[in-house]
Amino acid sequence: MANSILSQAQFHNEEAAYAFVEARIWPKGPVCPHCGGVERNSKMGGKSTRIGTYKCYACRKPFTVKIGTIFEKSHIPMNLWLQAIFLIASSKKGISSNQLHRTLGVTLKSAWFMSHRIREAMKDDGGPLGGTGKIVEADETFWGTETGKKKQAGGGHKMKVMALVERGGKVRSVRIHDMKLSTMREVMESNLHPETHLMTDEAWQYYQIGKQFAKHSTVNHTLKEYARGSVTTNTIESFFAIFKRGLIGTYHHVSSQHLERYSAEFDFRYNNRKSLGVEDAERAENLLRGVVGKRLTYAATAN
Ligand SMILES: [Zn+2]
Repeated sequence: MANSILSQAQFHNEEAAYAFVEARIWPKGPVCPHCGGVERNSKMGGKSTRIGTYKCYACRKPFTVKIGTIFEKSHIPMNLWLQAIFLIASSKKGISSNQLHRTLGVTLKSAWFMSHRIREAMKDDGGPLGGTGKIVEADETFWGTETGKKKQAGGGHKMKVMALVERGGKVRSVRIHDMKLSTMREVMESNLHPETHLMTDEAWQYYQIGKQFAKHSTVNHTLKEYARGSVTTNTIESFFAIFKRGLIGTYHHVSSQHLERYSAEFDFRYNNRKSLGVEDAERAENLLRGVVGKRLTYAATAN
């Protein structure tokens, strides 16, 4: 019989789904989210008790593994959450809320809510990229139109994302609102190790910022000089190509309000990519580890 990942119990049975999530969020056993207690927690049984409910006998309060995670205050069955996580983690160009709605059989509103919360869980810890002997390519890409802006020459009305990619390592993309030196400097200072060898195009801002790093090499795009020996920005350009294909092909109308979350999604998949040895199931597990502490406040009551 074919050994399909999707035939595993956690995708079909809610109890198995809870056990799967609990094993990853509480590797040493249940932790009471109210008082932090680890010793006097008991699983509640009985027909009237919701699946996954524990009681803490230290503070006498009930809890589930959902508290303090992206699953909090959601009535969507945990096994469907795990299906959604798997689908999003394994789809290279992303998966639209509409597709999720049809595949999972949940309402469009629930699908939208789930996919945005899952994107929250894909945000990384923010440690610096680069370092001694490491090459980081930096570049920006423009997309669509900022909410409420009129067309301007020079792309001032467009949404902008700046990305930093460490060769053979991680990417980080950051939404920026303008191309001012101070804006770009801030992004690079807070995301790059100063010992990094930086590679960029010849945008004037990079000449200024480049002085703060161990080494700075540039590629002249206007002369079609995309590669001069190892000086290229090909890595970042291929990341932007996947990012834009996803935005155009899958997410047709990304509003500027949510752009940051979509870029976190593409970063996550790139940082957990196959060429680094991360397969689909492991990528979904890595995503699941990010669910803690990422609850969205603006949509907290939806479904
Ligand atoms: Zn407690």
